[in-house]
Amino acid sequence: MPAETSEMEWDDIDTFLTEHCKDELNLIGQHYPKKQAVLIDFQELEEFSPHLGEKLLNNPDEVIAEFNKALEKEKAHIPFSKAMDRANEDIRIYARFFNFPQEQQIMIRDCTSHHLGKFISVQGLVTKITDVLPRVWKGVFVCKRCKRETIVIQTDKTIKPPPVCEGCGRKEFDLVAERSKFSNFQKIEVQEPLEMLKGGEQAKRISVWLEEDLTNKVLPGQRIIINGILRLEPPKYKGTVYQKYIEANNIEFTEFEFEELEISEEEEKKIKELAEDPKVVDKIIDSIAPSIYGHREAKEAIALQLCGGTPNKRLPDGMKIRDNIHILLIGDPGTAKSQMLKYVDRLAPKSLYVSGKSATGGGLTAIAEKDEFGEGGWVLKAGALVLASGGLACIDEFDKMGEEDRSAIHEALEQQTVSVAKAGIIATFRADSAVLAAANPKYSRFDPYKPPADQFDIPPTLISRFDLIFPVKDVLDETRDQELATHILNSHRLSQTLAKASEEDIETLKEGVAPPIDPELLKRYIAYARRTCHPVLTDEAITRLKNYYVDLRKRGSGGSVPLTPRQLEALVRLSEASAKLRLSDKVEMMDAERAIKLVEFVLREVGMERETGGFDIDRIMSEHPKSERDRIYTILSIVKGLEEEYDMVPRERVLEEAQEYHNIDNRTAEKLIQELINKGDLYEPRHGHIKSVNR
Ligand code: ADP
Ligand code: MG
Repeated sequence: MPAETSEMEWDDIDTFLTEHCKDELNLIGQHYPKKQAVLIDFQELEEFSPHLGEKLLNNPDEVIAEFNKALEKEKAHIPFSKAMDRANEDIRIYARFFNFPQEQQIMIRDCTSHHLGKFISVQGLVTKITDVLPRVWKGVFVCKRCKRETIVIQTDKTIKPPPVCEGCGRKEFDLVAERSKFSNFQKIEVQEPLEMLKGGEQAKRISVWLEEDLTNKVLPGQRIIINGILRLEPPKYKGTVYQKYIEANNIEFTEFEFEELEISEEEEKKIKELAEDPKVVDKIIDSIAPSIYGHREAKEAIALQLCGGTPNKRLPDGMKIRDNIHILLIGDPGTAKSQMLKYVDRLAPKSLYVSGKSATGGGLTAIAEKDEFGEGGWVLKAGALVLASGGLACIDEFDKMGEEDRSAIHEALEQQTVSVAKAGIIATFRADSAVLAAANPKYSRFDPYKPPADQFDIPPTLISRFDLIFPVKDVLDETRDQELATHILNSHRLSQTLAKASEEDIETLKEGVAPPIDPELLKRYIAYARRTCHPVLTDEAITRLKNYYVDLRKRGSGGSVPLTPRQLEALVRLSEASAKLRLSDKVEMMDAERAIKLVEFVLREVGMERETGGFDIDRIMSEHPKSERDRIYTILSIVKGLEEEYDMVPRERVLEEAQEYHNIDNRTAEKLIQELINKGDLYEPRHGHIKSVNR
């Protein structure tokens, strides 16, 4: 341990300032009060005097006080450009430190009582900010009785009057606000950056106090490094629980994303090997939520979503084209939608999982509200899409989102920004995340004959922001049920027996349940693809996409527009993602085909007019049902009407009514009845007779 610091060593500070901080001091002279801080490179300081560096880390209060004294002396030599009274004690200059070595940085969860009063450096994502509030630093007090004045410099958060009046010995004072000095004060909250969390971990949060020139510099969603001292805040109401906070000495902005997942050379080799495999894409799809049976197309879409399109594309006029792919899973409860989201959250290199209903604090976009954190003032809180910027937001119960989010979410999905204009706060944040959302139908079950917009509490304009929409249906199908049951039971058995089973048994059990690619490797594979691949469209791919798009628009039935340019952009994004999934720099024919196959699937599931074979995007987006849906409902209501007369309705009667009153020919009516039977809305208790199913 170094010996007590001698006066000599404190003199080192003066030398250091003269030798290393001349430019900084000059800048203060030119720009005060805009610039009030001398920025000190910690590594330079440590090189200059290892002892001083170490002392700053372990005993920051003492060292910073000495720096302040030294700066007070320096003030006399600063060539202030504005005429200023240098002796004026209101000119305050701060020493702010930056550039701490990586190993000095700790995670928020690791800030323990052992670090109290020590200098620490943490990386964080800003989740909340308060208004900038005035805080007394020089209190002018007058004795209530003899009016004698006493000045007390405030260091704590709670105000400290003088102990006794030196004039009359009384202990009652008034603060003279007009003559006291105030500094700017702001509280923010930061959380651990998502990419530093292991799969599924909750991010830990801590408050940070900012003063003077550090205030009004950060917005929710920004990534910063906070250098400061870990302290304890006394309990507010005579409690015993103290809250930790960081008194910031300095904040640094990191322009780049934080150190993402590290990929070793050996891992890179494995990744490249995997990419050579002609079956790689299938293997990746099979590795997404393997314990969930079926939903193959949705998994394929998620695989593409994890990679995203080619980033940073701009139109000639400078408009940025969104590269993130948004996916919506809609459908019956209990069909593993939530499970799927949670699995993907664990798999994605950078992601968070929230429920629309209970999205913590900031909702999905951003919220401005008054709460305790704001000491009575406004607090601006970042929501899920802001926090997941640059990654993936898995949003469950998307239909249950709050009112504020409903109006802001369109902008977030398309422009990938969130704007807040409330209570004098006008701000725009980056919300550059891909969204994987899940929603349950309003009336318990999803009905493929009704337009989605009728069945979900999601407006059509919002549904149209998603590149792909998957209806997740719980269909009655015995073979499928058997396979599903075997699959689920196998997964359960696997997890129970893994510990004691023999190698061979494990292999058999794993069949179809274990992912072909280890999740850790897959996570790195995706991170690698995102980092290194920026595929461009080949001529063949462009031609294929263009022809498909033009054809599809022609196929539109009844004059309704089947596809909009928005869907063409989606096709491009999906094709690019497919190329990334193969680690290819070129978007080729096969990638265009994959994108088209998925779009076709979605259109078939939710958007096709069965009987004409034409697609109808209106069916997905609008609330006006078209011909076939009308007819299928007509048949259903005929059956229900006839049930007033018959216990079991003769088929003949239904055909008659359909023909006579609704102009539906017998063949079509038969076909529609059959469809309703297949779907489980009607059944045949006896040959030639039908009944409706009430649910
Ligand atoms: P949702 O969010 O769609 O209402 P959940 O994700 O909560 O449904 O799923 C309910 C349960 O049913 C989960 O335990 C899930 O694992 C199981 N489950 C449903 N469908 C499947 C499936 N296709 N494969 C495996 N498990 C399934
Ligand atoms: Mg659910």
